[in-house]
Amino acid sequence: MSAIIIDGKQTAANYRNELKDKISNYNSQEVPVLAVVSVGDDPASKVYVRTKQKFAQEVGMGCEVIELADSIGENALLEIIDELNDNHHINGIIVQLPLPKHINTLKVLSHINPSKDVDGFTPYNTGLLSYNDPRGFISATPKGILELLKSTAVDLKGKHAVVIGRSNIVGKPIAMLLLNQDCTVTVTHSKTENLETIVKTADIVIAACGRAKMVKASWIKEGAIIIDVGINRVDGKLCGDVDFDEVKEKASFITPVPGGVGPMTVAMLLSNTFEAFCKQQDHHDCHCHHKNCKCH
Ligand code: NDP
Repeated sequence: MSAIIIDGKQTAANYRNELKDKISNYNSQEVPVLAVVSVGDDPASKVYVRTKQKFAQEVGMGCEVIELADSIGENALLEIIDELNDNHHINGIIVQLPLPKHINTLKVLSHINPSKDVDGFTPYNTGLLSYNDPRGFISATPKGILELLKSTAVDLKGKHAVVIGRSNIVGKPIAMLLLNQDCTVTVTHSKTENLETIVKTADIVIAACGRAKMVKASWIKEGAIIIDVGINRVDGKLCGDVDFDEVKEKASFITPVPGGVGPMTVAMLLSNTFEAFCKQQDHHDCHCHHKNCKCH
C-alpha cells in the first residue's frame, strides 16, 4: 500500500485564494495588517519572515516587519509591543521565535494583546484552547495540521493520536486541539520510554521533534495517518522527522516535507490575522484584560 500524499502546498494555495477574495470583498477602507517583530539575524527566521511577508502581500494584507538588533533589551522590546498593541492600524502581532537567550520569551509573548495575538501563543489564547473555547486564536501550525487532517475526510473521533514533541508552539497545542476533536492523545518527548512501541499503536502520528527521518516504517501501524511537522536540513536538503520514502509505503496518508505542514502554517497565520481584523472592525468584545484594547 502506498499512502496518499496530503498536498499542503495546494491546500494552502486554495486557502490563500479564498482569503484574498474575502479581503477584497470586505466592506472597509482598511486592509488587515500583520506586524512581524523579528529580533536578531538568524538566517532561518529571516526566510520565514520573508515568506510571511510575501504571502501577506499576495492576499492583499499589509505586513510590517520590525527588525531589531540581537542586543535589544527586554524592556525596549516590551515597549515596541506596547506601541503595536496601541496602534489601531495593526490587527495582528507576531514575534518571530526563537528570541535571543537574554529575553524571556513568555514575558514577551504575554505582552501581546490577546485580540492581536494571531500566533495564539499568549497564555490567554492557549487557555481558551484548553477550554475548547472558539473565541481564542489557535496557533497556526496546529491549526494547519488539523485542516490537513480534515482534508483526508477520516473521522478523527476516538482515533489514537501520538504526538512526538511537547513544545509550546507545536506539540502541546496540537495535542489539545486533537483532544478537542475527540481523539485519544498520547504526548511523547525525549524522555519517553519505548517510543517506537507507543507510535506503533497510533492511528495518527504527529511528528514534531526536529530529528531528521527519526520515524521509521517499522514504527508505524499499517494505514496510519502521518503528519510530519519537522523541518530539518540534511546535506543542504530539507527533510522531515519521518523517513518519508519508507513510511509512505505503510501509511494511508502522509504529508511531505517540504510542501506539507509548512505552507499551511503561513496560510493559517494570515487567516487568523483576517479574523482579528474582522473582530476589531466590529469592535468585538474580546474580554481581554489589556487596558488599551478597544473592548474596554
Ligand atoms: P522544539 O525543539 O521546541 O521541541 C522538540 C520536541 O521534540 C521536544 O518536546 C523534545 O522533547 C522532543 N524530542 C526531541 N528529540 C526527541 C526524540 N529523540 N524522541 C522523542 N521526542 C524528542 O521544536 P518545535 O516544537 O519548535 O519544532 C519541532 C520541529 O517542527 C522542528 O523541526 C521545527 O523546525 C519544526 N517546525 C515546523 C513548523 C512548520 O510550520 N512546519 C512550525 C514549527 C516548527 P523534550 O521536551 O524532552 O526536549
